[in-house]
Amino acid sequence: MKAQELAQALLGSGRRASATQTTDPGTSNQTQNWEALNRRALAKSITLLESTLPSDRAEADALISMLLPHTGQSLRLGISGVPGVGKSTFIEVLGLYLINKGHKLAVLAVDPSSTVSGGSILGDKTRMERLSVNPSAFIRPSPSRGTLGGVAEKTREAILLCEAAGYDIVIVETVGVGQSETTVSLMTDLFVLMQLPNAGDDLQAIKKGVMELADLVLINKADLDPNAATRAQAQITSAMRLYGFHGNPSKSTQLDQGHDQDAFHGHGHEHEQSHKAQSSTPLPKVLQLSALQEKGIENFWQTVSAYKVSREKSGLWSERRRSQALAGMWERVDSELKRSFKEYPPVRSMLPNVLAGVGNGSLAPTVAARQLLFAYKGGHA
Ligand code: GDP
Repeated sequence: MKAQELAQALLGSGRRASATQTTDPGTSNQTQNWEALNRRALAKSITLLESTLPSDRAEADALISMLLPHTGQSLRLGISGVPGVGKSTFIEVLGLYLINKGHKLAVLAVDPSSTVSGGSILGDKTRMERLSVNPSAFIRPSPSRGTLGGVAEKTREAILLCEAAGYDIVIVETVGVGQSETTVSLMTDLFVLMQLPNAGDDLQAIKKGVMELADLVLINKADLDPNAATRAQAQITSAMRLYGFHGNPSKSTQLDQGHDQDAFHGHGHEHEQSHKAQSSTPLPKVLQLSALQEKGIENFWQTVSAYKVSREKSGLWSERRRSQALAGMWERVDSELKRSFKEYPPVRSMLPNVLAGVGNGSLAPTVAARQLLFAYKGGHA
């Protein structure tokens, strides 16, 4: 299917489905057909942008450009946590709760294991059985080939396609290992870190960098040991304050600089406020949850909604989107430049010796880089 047809199928069916839902609930069969068409078109469109064929890439670019005016209206939610913390259980109950409120939900995955092994531990449809058969949900596993950067790029584009198809909530799920959390936090409006109740007992085990990325921390499985969950909530809250006071503003919080009157994070006392003003590092919220018993879902959603309202008011919402869009562009340029740099014949012919020299310590890395760049620029400094 060509870009034009896919765009029509995505936009047409998406619009009709939602229009029918609100104005005429009686024609549910028709709505379901449209939603099925919409999901199929969306799945095909994502397959197109994951293709490595140059002709497909050109079609995918055309498709994204056509759809761009219809994108951006969703809430993009990043969810991370170690395997077993309860991500899929949570996403399923949250998804069903949101669909019940009239939303359409897309779940995408960024799975670093799939880029290494070709297998996927995330986004597998069988993990969310009730959600995956719901007509208002779209679940897509992680692209299984390519580097993390490549997967990130496809996922960023997939978010746009989901939005054009009428999904007003897009969840991007990732596992709590490696760089993928940073990647996901840089493509979502709100990054949620899921933890287990015993996490508070061993704060050393929680990577500081990841904590700094989190806008919200959820202590899941609070039903197993309510006291431990409450303790973890208090400990993580105070640890986050410490990071907020003394840590360097992290990548994610750089986006927030210059805006200190964020009501969502503004529940502290005056001392805290003044520190926040200095560091410009907002303090995340820590909430308890039992995904299994479906407790805490409403509270979570209210918190997210309050966050959105507050951020929109302060301008941080659109600022984060703007920074992310620009970062996405530069990331693509960087990786393409590096690729073409390495393939440029004068550079390519020098590389074996240069790599060996840097590897065995006989050539300084900075000098090596300058020599390669000199060759790349055709002998101009
Ligand atoms: P994921 O790997 O992060 O997606 O974790 P899953 O959602 O697959 O959950 C792992 C296991 O934890 C499953 O057996 C779930 O039933 C269980 N689980 C998830 N949430 C809760 C919870 O809130 N309380 C309890 N007791 N178990 C939970």
